[in-house]
Amino acid sequence: MAGSGKTTLVQRLTAHLHAKESAPYVINLDPAVHKVPFPTNIDIRDTVDYKEVMRQYGLGPNGAIVTSLNLFATRFDQVVAFVEKRRHDHAHVLIDTPGQIEVFTWSASGAIITEALASSFPCVVAYVMDTSRSASPVTFMSNMLYACSILYRTRLPFVVVMNKTDVLDHGFAVEWMRDFEAFQDALSRETSYVSNLTRSMSLVLDEFYAGLRVVGVSAVTGSGLDELLVRVAEAAEEYETEYRPEYERLRQERADTQSRELQRGKLDGLTKAMRAANVSTSAATAAEEEADFDDDDDEEVDSDVDDML
Ligand code: GDP
Ligand code: MG
Repeated sequence: MAGSGKTTLVQRLTAHLHAKESAPYVINLDPAVHKVPFPTNIDIRDTVDYKEVMRQYGLGPNGAIVTSLNLFATRFDQVVAFVEKRRHDHAHVLIDTPGQIEVFTWSASGAIITEALASSFPCVVAYVMDTSRSASPVTFMSNMLYACSILYRTRLPFVVVMNKTDVLDHGFAVEWMRDFEAFQDALSRETSYVSNLTRSMSLVLDEFYAGLRVVGVSAVTGSGLDELLVRVAEAAEEYETEYRPEYERLRQERADTQSRELQRGKLDGLTKAMRAANVSTSAATAAEEEADFDDDDDEEVDSDVDDML
């Protein structure tokens, strides 16, 4: 969420990795930030002028963030190519997301960007939350519901980063996640309004917590960063074993659909060409039918089509 400390964390983590002589590749995806407090390899602001987008399209701040990201998403293949080229020089790529994360997580460009990254690299979502502002059980629960929705939206390995532990230790949150009754107690102490809905929601979250990686950090003091790196490495491992096979399957499915569409397109062209050349319609229909039954025999159909064209 805005103000949870994403940018400060990227800054601190960049310094931390530099100190370990493992400099990360750093990307800023926030078009509206005034000043980026870390050196970037790619900065969306070099490509898209957020103020100009607001002016030109007559948009407010959120609309302009979405539009800027949409414009950037159309060129995201270049970003992937850059990272691809540098992948052997960097163990980590850090990506700072827009201030209003919801415009990223719920926009088409957000999905395009995460999918482009996740189909090429082990990709991990770090959900940064402001621990000091989650001390109330109701706020904590809504924060966790939000984390849950982002997990299901991105379907990527996930680490919950409880930031600002210099202000408030995250121990209370870990206890609430481990012990359902402790959370219910806190909830009933805070408000008399403990409805069935709140209770049911925390039951759902109990499922979400099982197996969830959580780490407490302070982006200001740098505490917890080594543990964060360990959790990220575990999540990257999970990416390799669980997510990559799924992405490969989806990618293959998409490639198959595209090649079928291409084939259909070519066949339409073939039919038209045959008609124009006065070839009997029955022969054209036969060619169409053959293609319909011959979906997995791309080569032959393609080469036929090429011959005809
Ligand atoms: P973003 O909107 O998520 O990128 O949040 P920022 O990184 O811009 O941080 C928002 C505010 O929280 C700034 O005033 C930061 O100085 C402050 N902040 C970020 N991380 C920490 C932290 O670990 N501890 C404390 N005390 N403040 C923090
Ligand atoms: Mg920020």
